[in-house]
Amino acid sequence: MESVQVKDKSFDLFISEEVIIDKIEALARHINEDLANTQPLFVCVLNGAFMFASDLMKRVKIPCEISFIRLKSYQGTCSEGKVREINGLAESVEDRNVVIVEDIIDTGVTIKYLIEKLKRLNPASVKIATLFLKPDALKTDVTPNYVAMEIPNDFIVGYGLDYDGFGRNLRNIYKIKSC
Ligand code: 5GP
Ligand code: MG
Repeated sequence: MESVQVKDKSFDLFISEEVIIDKIEALARHINEDLANTQPLFVCVLNGAFMFASDLMKRVKIPCEISFIRLKSYQGTCSEGKVREINGLAESVEDRNVVIVEDIIDTGVTIKYLIEKLKRLNPASVKIATLFLKPDALKTDVTPNYVAMEIPNDFIVGYGLDYDGFGRNLRNIYKIKSC
C-alpha cells in the first residue's frame, strides 16, 4: 500500500487519479445532457476545488462561464463549523444558472452558506457539483445535484484537498491513517 507523509500525519492511498478522472467524465456527461442550452456559470470554490474544476471544465462541452470564490471552513483535520469568506465573487449571478463546483461536502455548512449567499443575488437557479460527499457527516439539508463519489467519514488529502495547506499537489487521494 502506497503511503505518504504530509506534515505530521501519514496517509494511505485511497482513490487513484485514474478512478477520479473516470468519475469526473461520467459527471461531465451528466452535466452536458442536463444543462445544455442553460449557459451555466460554474463557481469554483477555492482552494480545494481547483484541480477538480480544471478536469471537469475540460470535459464540459456546452457553452458556459467559470468564476471563482474563496472560502475557508477547515482548520487542520476538523471542520471549524463556521465559514469565512476570503475572496468574493466578481461576476453577477442575477438570472444566471449557477453551478457551484466544490471539492467535498462534509457537514454541508460551507455549501449551505454559499447557496444562501448566492440565492440572495437572484440567480435563475443554483445547483451543486461536488467531487466527494461524506453522507455520514452531513448535518444540513443540502442535496447536491452532481456527486462524483460518496466516501466514508475519514479525512482525505490530495487532488486539491489539503492538510494544513499541504498535500494539494498529490495526484491521487489519500486517507488519514489515524486522526
Ligand atoms: P463542510 O462545511 O461541508 O463541513 O466542509 C467543507 C469543506 O471542508 C470542504 O470544502 C473542504 O475544503 C473541507 N473538507 C471537508 N472534508 C475534508 C477532508 O476530508 N479533507 C480535506 N482536506 N478537506 C476537507
Ligand atoms: Mg472546499
